[in-house]
Amino acid sequence: MIVMNGKQLSEKVLDEVLLDQQKVLSTYGRPAGLAVIMVGDNPASKVYVANKIKACNFVGFYSITHQLVESTNETELLSLINKLNNDDTIDGILVQLPLPKHINELKVINAISPSKDVDGFHPINIGKMLIDDKTGFLPCTPYGILQILDEYKIDVKGKDVVIVGRSNIVGKPISIMLIQRSATVQVCNSNTKNINEKLQIADIIIAATGVPNLIKYEDVKEGVIIIDVGINRLDGKLCGDVDYNNVSKKASYITPVPGGVGPMTIASLIKNTYKSYQLKKEGIYER
Ligand code: NDP
Repeated sequence: MIVMNGKQLSEKVLDEVLLDQQKVLSTYGRPAGLAVIMVGDNPASKVYVANKIKACNFVGFYSITHQLVESTNETELLSLINKLNNDDTIDGILVQLPLPKHINELKVINAISPSKDVDGFHPINIGKMLIDDKTGFLPCTPYGILQILDEYKIDVKGKDVVIVGRSNIVGKPISIMLIQRSATVQVCNSNTKNINEKLQIADIIIAATGVPNLIKYEDVKEGVIIIDVGINRLDGKLCGDVDYNNVSKKASYITPVPGGVGPMTIASLIKNTYKSYQLKKEGIYER
């Protein structure tokens, strides 16, 4: 059984971006820039944002965090996004989700310029992903999963993949990306009947539900490849959606939690921001 080390891979990705950034800095005249907007002070969001900023600093990007109070209204938020859309030092804009209930998330995502949407959530980028137009930005978590699969030379072509979870940020986009790579994909949700039967024939399982230890030893077949996206807290400890200790006895490859998909989500954000910077500098993308 091979543990797919997302932490190590993310460090490799960040090192590559750091070197690339250093090489082009004098020619481009400025580093890549990421603006992060946070509304309210959700403790989990604060940790995620701090980790993203830490990665930005490591690779030498310019970054700015706009920490807005919980009572910020939609108009104020949209006006800040508009300002950042027109700021030439900023290549990526990230609005940390979830937003307070009085703000319409879709409206906010739509307001970000697709050319700065480094989270890959804007409908234009989702559309580009769907038709495999490489000028778009892939959503960070599924993009991180693809890089893990590539690093461990896992070819999904012809494989039966079962994805548990159908969110806009994980389940749906990873299903499209794997179909693009010629996998046969089933996407389950909380209404799916007989999930166990589907899991038992899966060559690859991607779990993204937020339900700790949902996928058990008896659900999976010998040699299965497991990608565990879940980040849950159980008895004060972080765990995924997969019963790691037992499922790993049957798996050929498995991602741990923590240290699997999580760090690669951040590395993908850094890659997307760098890509945006390059596209602009090469004149492929205007603002
Ligand atoms: P959502 O809550 O948006 O979606 C969860 C999905 O899981 C839904 O489609 C839901 O079905 C499905 N689901 C829930 N329970 C079951 C069940 N018992 N059987 C089958 N399907 C079920 O979550 P996210 O996609 O945002 O996140 C999922 C997990 O991944 C969370 O733990 C989150 O913290 C983590 N995460 C980790 C990231 C990382 O970088 N590692 C990044 C993003 C998320 P239905 O649609 O029917 O409700």
